[in-house]
Amino acid sequence: MKVSYLIFVLASMMLFPAGISDGLVSTYVQWNIGQGSWGTYIETQSCLHIDMGGDFAPSSSLLQRCRNKKNFVILTHYDRDHINLQYWFRRYITKLAKAPRPLSIVIFQPSRNGNKSENSKSLVIFYHKTLNPGDSTKKEELLWSYSHQIKNAEVLVLGHHGSHTSTSVNLLQQLKSLKWSISSARKSKYNHPHQEVVKRLKQLGIPVLKTESWGNIYYNLKGRYSISKSLATGS
Ligand SMILES: [Zn+2]
Repeated sequence: MKVSYLIFVLASMMLFPAGISDGLVSTYVQWNIGQGSWGTYIETQSCLHIDMGGDFAPSSSLLQRCRNKKNFVILTHYDRDHINLQYWFRRYITKLAKAPRPLSIVIFQPSRNGNKSENSKSLVIFYHKTLNPGDSTKKEELLWSYSHQIKNAEVLVLGHHGSHTSTSVNLLQQLKSLKWSISSARKSKYNHPHQEVVKRLKQLGIPVLKTESWGNIYYNLKGRYSISKSLATGS
């Protein structure tokens, strides 16, 4: 084994503590937080959060599931509706760390330069058959949508909450295994999900699940893939 490779392996072992390990994640939840985005991969010992923003705090079920675990966060970009609820969460969870990267997580970063709050700088996360493009725009979709690493995505959290500036025909054509899409938005605020996007998905037979209508959306990642919902804010 080459020395450089050995160093890489040892460094990786330090970066991936027990608790953020592949294969143990049981559920992905897209929380109902109004206009914004907060998704969580829940496993036995930890919660990995993708963004923490929205109009209001998620239901108590998030705290029930994550309060006594290690909590990690990846922010796709620094727009208010993706980060502002961190402060609410920190009232209950003091140990909130930047996430180490599980081996199978795929993170695209179209551009490192410039203002991190811009949609064009949004990270794109793919993990356990769920694809979360943050607010990545159609132009940036061209940079990552052809990657073979996202081909087996079954759930798509709609880019930019379902705005017509994201979710291009080209992107959908690449996602041959797609079964569900999720819009994390409040219709009355910016008219998300946009009717063009809904129409595009409908033509492909992909249902659009709206957090506004469904409440928290739970995607079971263990064995059979299934969607469930909770309309009650406290569950
Ligand atoms: Zn946003």
